[in-house]
Amino acid sequence: MDPSKNGDRPRFACIALDYEDTRHLYRTLNLPAPPVGDVMFGAVAERFQTILARHGVSATLFVVGEDILTDNNRRSLRRFVDSGHEVANHTMTHPFGMREMAYADKVREIEGAQKLLEDVTGQPVVGYKAPAHDIDADVIDILEERGFHYDASVYPSYFNPLLNVCYRVVGGGRPLGLGDWQCSLAPNRPYRLGRPYWKTGTRSMVEFPISQIPAVKFPVYATVMFTAGLRAFQAQFAAVRRMRFLTYVFHSFDLFDENDDGFVPALRRYPALRLPLAERLEMVDHVVKTIASRFQPVTYRRAVTQPEILGAIL
Ligand SMILES: [Zn+2]
Repeated sequence: MDPSKNGDRPRFACIALDYEDTRHLYRTLNLPAPPVGDVMFGAVAERFQTILARHGVSATLFVVGEDILTDNNRRSLRRFVDSGHEVANHTMTHPFGMREMAYADKVREIEGAQKLLEDVTGQPVVGYKAPAHDIDADVIDILEERGFHYDASVYPSYFNPLLNVCYRVVGGGRPLGLGDWQCSLAPNRPYRLGRPYWKTGTRSMVEFPISQIPAVKFPVYATVMFTAGLRAFQAQFAAVRRMRFLTYVFHSFDLFDENDDGFVPALRRYPALRLPLAERLEMVDHVVKTIASRFQPVTYRRAVTQPEILGAIL
């Protein structure tokens, strides 16, 4: 469906998947890391790609460098990019509490993944998302100095303190993320970064914050649906359908199968993994179809590099 037929200004949406291999989930859950295979990445990318292709949608995959070190995973990533999708930087090792790291280590995390992703895909990588949204002013500077076009880490939710409690419970007491507390106050729409970075300004980089339900600023993303059901997605979508820009994020574990290599029962602590894969694939299909019926789905790269799109959403 052509969203411009709605009779008003075009609306754009960026659909994304943050890929974290199981080793990162074990770290989040504070479990000893198992040996990691090299089948899961390709399996998840292909499941996602199949659904996107069905609806003619291009999306963005945020990739951790460490997850594409094997030939098999590199091939899978190239296949994904060759289908017209975008790959963006999600650090080299997906560290927790990245804000607490030394400046040089932050640089290493970003540059390491950048080199690897550009080597594998043969394309410039122009976007970044911090692990657990733990963004700070240092990282924004590091990205800007290296010519990145956008960041997609800011989590402008009023529920951040509550979410951080959840993170601490899941992570066994460790603080994991969500950036500086002022991110709660950041705009609920794309903006040109200012100083401080949670305010609008005139810097070269654009911020694509995680979309929130207007006024209450409750996050809109797939984990809510997999925790509370398809009706929760429908209620969330009804609340955001008038926004000019929507970003909707899935995670790799949303598309894991119990038969994939590296799967262990402890992963069922993630609500999505209590549902059979077939049911989850149908839910993802429904989300992509619903978003595409109302918004024009584009990659972040396209949104940030095409002046008419950027002009419509900023
Ligand atoms: Zn992540």
